[in-house]
Amino acid sequence: MSGEGLLIVISGFSGAGKGTVVKKLVEEYQYKISVSATTRSPRQGEEHGREYFFLTRKEFESMIEENSLIEWAEYVGNYYGTPKDYVTKELESGNNVILEIEIQGALKVKEQYPEAILMFISPPSASCLEERLIGRGTEDEEIIKKRMARSCEEAIYMKDYDYIVLNDKLDLCVEKEKFNMLHPSYTDLMA
Ligand code: 5GP
Repeated sequence: MSGEGLLIVISGFSGAGKGTVVKKLVEEYQYKISVSATTRSPRQGEEHGREYFFLTRKEFESMIEENSLIEWAEYVGNYYGTPKDYVTKELESGNNVILEIEIQGALKVKEQYPEAILMFISPPSASCLEERLIGRGTEDEEIIKKRMARSCEEAIYMKDYDYIVLNDKLDLCVEKEKFNMLHPSYTDLMA
């Protein structure tokens, strides 16, 4: 791996609550978060350069051609990719960097950075995942269906991750204590 910082890759089914884990690592441990490029439209409250760099397909395809992305993937009809410059610079400065990306991208990162740590955040069940996606209210029914289908396709790759973290903290449909008893390490991360 270039430089001395650690590269942490966090994936999880859409709506699994990855944001909570990422926030904790950034706020308490000063990890640097890489802002991805995407062609999807901004959701309410999202800002260009903060949640994502919102690009047209043409702009995104130019980044692919210029080889300025570490990895990229298509996810439910849109492109998503990790800009190379930021990650390289921060790792070389000795900072730990987090990528919050989907599975295909994560596996491409692991090929280029074998020391990268891959962490998968999972909800306790498929129905809980669907409830969260609906509850969040940011996607229409058709997109939720596509995201659920994509999650099922991705599940097979969980075995390639270094850590699988069960996230039931934000969950309204299971008793928290039951899962914390089964997965005590989860409590440390999400406390
Ligand atoms: P969302 O549209 O919900 O923000 O993101 C959809 C999916 O794209 C999520 O699983 C998210 O982790 C993933 N994603 C975000 N940025 C990137 C990226 O740069 N590369 C890849 N491969 N996936 C990304």
